[in-house]
Amino acid sequence: MSHRILLLGAPGAGKGTQSAKLADEYGVEHVTTGDALRANKEMETEYGTPKSFMDAGELVPDPVVNEIVEAALSDADGFVLDGYPRNLDQAEYLSEITDLDAVILLDVDEEVLVDRLTGRRVCDDCGANYHVDFHPPEEPGVCDDCGGELIQREDDTEETARERLEVFYDNTEPVVDHFRDEGVLVEVDGEATPDEVFDRIRDVVEN
Ligand code: AMP
Repeated sequence: MSHRILLLGAPGAGKGTQSAKLADEYGVEHVTTGDALRANKEMETEYGTPKSFMDAGELVPDPVVNEIVEAALSDADGFVLDGYPRNLDQAEYLSEITDLDAVILLDVDEEVLVDRLTGRRVCDDCGANYHVDFHPPEEPGVCDDCGGELIQREDDTEETARERLEVFYDNTEPVVDHFRDEGVLVEVDGEATPDEVFDRIRDVVEN
């Protein structure tokens, strides 16, 4: 059976980590607008470059993001969608182009999110995630998996992290409420180790 899974949650809730595990477990496509936009940060659009929005912690305009998602989903049999939809207009667009099998919210307290975001380091080569305190690499600054350089995302500074959380509570919480009202949302406590959270998510997907 193919799976079409939507993972919702604030920045730092663990969507990227859990999506990668889900994609691996079920052999589905990991569709993430954040990574797609980071790979095309300097792309000229009629609204300017994605970078100008991302560095301020703001949302990139819907038409740019919708196009990325439509292209990615039309190529995928099953998928786990991460980082989209982030507002109600995107949620409506999504419901026009696909049906979902599971909608899961990763629930994490705001101060935990700030600690996770500001301590996060990512591999510049393979994208693996680390945390300076909670999941340090064996050698500081070096990826355990591929030996690549670990960097801090430009939007993981405390100021921009807090701005992104504001944007989440203002724009994306209505999306969460929308799926909750439809009765399809399943909430998962995201404050545990990645393996424990993954077990909880797998229970939801399979039941
Ligand atoms: P993320 O890696 O998911 O935290 O996304 C990083 C940044 O990319 C966000 O702060 C936004 O600027 C932009 N972005 C990612 N997904 C979306 C989306 N669905 N709609 C608008 N902007 C997005």
